[in-house]
Amino acid sequence: MSVMEDVILNAKTAVGSVGRKAGEVIDRSKLRIAAVDIKSELSGKYRMLGRLYYESETTGKKYDESIKKLIETITDLNEQLAAVKEAIAGSEKKIRCPECSEYNQKGAVFCSKCGAKLSSAKPPYEDDQTQEELLDFAEEIADEDIDI
Ligand SMILES: [Zn+2]
Repeated sequence: MSVMEDVILNAKTAVGSVGRKAGEVIDRSKLRIAAVDIKSELSGKYRMLGRLYYESETTGKKYDESIKKLIETITDLNEQLAAVKEAIAGSEKKIRCPECSEYNQKGAVFCSKCGAKLSSAKPPYEDDQTQEELLDFAEEIADEDIDI
């Protein structure tokens, strides 16, 4: 096994944990962190794919199996990213009940689950503007990375 193939197989282990994380979290900030994680993971995979393709073209060595695995991983990551983005979009439209943590439609006065008053409730992410700004920045960097 070549060094490069070894690197790819080891890198693959990080993918599963990101997927599980995306399924469990409902907090918007955590979702955004997961999105940034997936984007940077994707960026690395695209680079590896380019490198493998370059190596196979210039050295004549065949990396077909590794390239195939890499493409499967990228497809999987893109699906995870789409799911996380959808969840982020969903959480943006909702406000969280301060009593029971249920998400309610924005503008709702009472919680649909426990009946608590929501009018003064703020979405949790509005409490931490700095973290939001940092995440915006992180997302921009991850986005730029992908286009290389
Ligand atoms: Zn409630």
